[in-house]
Amino acid sequence: VEAAAHLARLRAASSTLEAAGLVGLVVPPSPDLAYLIGYAPMPMERPTALVIVPGQAPILVVPTLERALAARCPAAEGLDIVDWGDGEEPYRLIADLVPSRGIVAAGDRLWGSHLLALQVASPSLRWTAAGAILGPLRARKDPQELGALRRAAAGADAALAELLATPIGGRRETEVARMLADLLLVHGHASAAFTIVASGPNAASPHHEATDRILGAGDGVVLDFGGDVDGYYSDTTRTIVVGAPSPELREIHRVVRDAHTAATAAIRPGVEIREIDRAARGVIEAAGYGEAFIHRTGHGIGLEVHEPPYATEGDDTVLAPGMTFSVEPGIYLPGVLGVRIEDIVAVTDDGVDVLNASPRELLVVG
Ligand code: ZN
Ligand code: ZN
Ligand code: ZN
Repeated sequence: VEAAAHLARLRAASSTLEAAGLVGLVVPPSPDLAYLIGYAPMPMERPTALVIVPGQAPILVVPTLERALAARCPAAEGLDIVDWGDGEEPYRLIADLVPSRGIVAAGDRLWGSHLLALQVASPSLRWTAAGAILGPLRARKDPQELGALRRAAAGADAALAELLATPIGGRRETEVARMLADLLLVHGHASAAFTIVASGPNAASPHHEATDRILGAGDGVVLDFGGDVDGYYSDTTRTIVVGAPSPELREIHRVVRDAHTAATAAIRPGVEIREIDRAARGVIEAAGYGEAFIHRTGHGIGLEVHEPPYATEGDDTVLAPGMTFSVEPGIYLPGVLGVRIEDIVAVTDDGVDVLNASPRELLVVG
């Protein structure tokens, strides 16, 4: 992302802070920091913090040994960089950059140890979570961000197609998970963040960890996998079957697919995101499986796999162009089977753009 885009994000954060009546924002190494200034050092015990106070130039406080690294970040021209050496007291330095009274927003990933030390350094300050400030800014992706999400989705689709081009029956879940991770890297991903391979009854656990279980004839298999391309994540799920499916698996897959179709069809600007959840849940409840849909319908995605907004009853975020999130209804019958279908979608000016193109029918593989 270009310097100009980061400087615009910094200005937007500053005016949002001011409008919310907050006196400052402290952001540690995190996706928030990557979003604001394109800087992503490793979080550690030595504090690094971007400090934004409305009306002032943003200041990046860094350990001296990382000053050279920080000076190369794309937003460096818009920042004052201040460093502190090992043996010095960094919390006093950070606390002195914000007013001594009022409410400061703390980045959601600020370590408890760092926040507690800042509270000791400036006891009259009050703190609030920065998610309420930065979440809505990050939720609407610009064209560059949408491009990265599109490339990530296409890479995940290509990885799945290549995986399913050869038989996977007789292999262990762990083996298939490794194959999927390798294929994500082959298809343009910088990382393979997660590869869920849940076969047969294991598929009833949505976040199953791959085991030594061998994929056998008739097993439904939930494949849920993703990683990042240029920092932006893919997250795709398909449920396949090894050999002939049981009538029950076929029927449940049809219900989940109908729920997925209904949810996707409900997406357009101006609609509350919880309506997307209601659309998916309505189909599954009408089919008699309401109790078996044990999670929300989706989550925002971008620099993090899970980020606001969330397609769930409690989230009344109004959809706007540029918002990206998953649509992933599922049905889980403990001890028997599980089915989930997941795509990443982007809200457009007048509807929705589905970023994934993998087939959604129950794919029969060898
Ligand atoms: Zn999940
Ligand atoms: Zn997923
Ligand atoms: Zn997901």
